[in-house]
Amino acid sequence: MKSEPLDRLSHPIRVSYMLGAKHRRFGLAEESELNRNGQRLLIKTKFKGTDHHQYIWALQCERAECGHVYGSNGSDFHLRRCPKCDGGAPGI
Ligand SMILES: [Zn+2]
Repeated sequence: MKSEPLDRLSHPIRVSYMLGAKHRRFGLAEESELNRNGQRLLIKTKFKGTDHHQYIWALQCERAECGHVYGSNGSDFHLRRCPKCDGGAPGI
């Protein structure tokens, strides 16, 4: 018996993880990325977020008159709105 079936099983998972990072699926993003609501991803912290398996990411509103910095679950980044000037949920 070889361990091939197991290798074949784990392989697609690793590939989809890498593709996810590239295609911005599964809540993955690069630091300094800007989302569609003008929120910049400053840094991914090591602190646990309020969602399962999520970490807190520090985001900053890019509006010149705002610049609010707050924490968000990594999975929320792409949909996040500024809690201060755009009616988004409070930071964590
Ligand atoms: Zn703002």
